[in-house]
Amino acid sequence: MSSAGPGAHPLTFAELWRELEPVGRDPQTGGYRRYSWTPADTACRAWFTGQAERRGLAVETDNNGNLWAWWGPKRPGAIATGSHLDSVPDGGAFDGPLGVVSALAAVDVLKDKAFSPERSVVLAAFTEEEGARFGVPCLGSRLLTGAVDPDAARVLTDDAGTMLADAMIAAGQDPGYLGPRDDLLAGLGAFVELHVEQGRALAPQGAALGLAEGIWPHGRWRFDFTGRADHAGTARLADRRDPMLPYAATVLAARQAAADNNAVATFGKVIVEPNGTNAVPSAVRAWLDARAPDEAAVADTVTTIRSASESFCEEHRVTLSVRQESFTPLVRFDQALRDRIAGTLAAAGVTAPVLPTGAGHDAGVLAARIPTAMLFVRNPTGVSHSPAEHADLADCEAGVRALAAVLEDLAGPT
Ligand SMILES: [Zn+2]
Repeated sequence: MSSAGPGAHPLTFAELWRELEPVGRDPQTGGYRRYSWTPADTACRAWFTGQAERRGLAVETDNNGNLWAWWGPKRPGAIATGSHLDSVPDGGAFDGPLGVVSALAAVDVLKDKAFSPERSVVLAAFTEEEGARFGVPCLGSRLLTGAVDPDAARVLTDDAGTMLADAMIAAGQDPGYLGPRDDLLAGLGAFVELHVEQGRALAPQGAALGLAEGIWPHGRWRFDFTGRADHAGTARLADRRDPMLPYAATVLAARQAAADNNAVATFGKVIVEPNGTNAVPSAVRAWLDARAPDEAAVADTVTTIRSASESFCEEHRVTLSVRQESFTPLVRFDQALRDRIAGTLAAAGVTAPVLPTGAGHDAGVLAARIPTAMLFVRNPTGVSHSPAEHADLADCEAGVRALAAVLEDLAGPT
């Protein structure tokens, strides 16, 4: 996509950003629909590959569809950085791509000062981090670490009924080799993910950057409310078995349960059948996302919502089935790595407050296997997973400089 040939000055962060910005953006909403293994995702992957190759990095797609761009030979102790390119439905521009684009820009900063890594640096772009298409967040990193069974992953289906295996084949990727890669993980000495802040903790502190302390435990539950379709004009209220009613009551119960447990709980996705204005629905499928500072609070919240939902369903003669689709335990990032990064940043005059986060990340999955850290770039409004998600260019550039300094320290001479 770049017109500049080899040898030309590398693109600045802003120029890289502008190149990727239109890919997968919906003209109506301004939000992104970069779902894994769709043409928008393929275009993002091609863009990343092209930019990495222009920098002389060797790019490979692993058996799980994650992209790795190597600066230096593949040998143990490599320092990995990156994030993801996929989005939630109508997501913002920054969640994911900021970490990938910053990784490319950080390589430029280091090459400009003729830095040569002693430990190889590898840029990663993980697949299906949001779980927006196949329902399991961090699918690419979970397959990599073995946290998701490959046979179960292959048959995950999107809302149109397409299986992951078929979606991968359609995008030219062989799904036959999905599964853990202990060899690849054993070669990584550390992973640092730069990400836009989700929430608004940095702005009040006047800090452009932050460091992650840990990730709240979180999970997804699918609620199936099954009733009986009927005519919206002729079916008497008393005769109806309308699944929308217990669903609606459950949404309100979730809000209350979250407030009572110092948690957050959200029904953000719902599918109604047959979805006709003049029809009593036959079924409502809804997904609950629940998170809290500790696992007991998540469990209490979900148990409360579930038992409330059961009684609403009984009242309306609707059947309910609830299934957990994913769960991620509490993640604590590596303290020694965080302290080292804080030291590097302090030496560069950057103070980065340490923050907990309610958002899941590939870094949280990798933290179970290798020393992992996260660097947050200030989000002035705190809004994320929305077209309004934003970070100021100056803060993004500060993030690139910080990431470059961190890579220089971690991959440089000991
Ligand atoms: Zn993200």
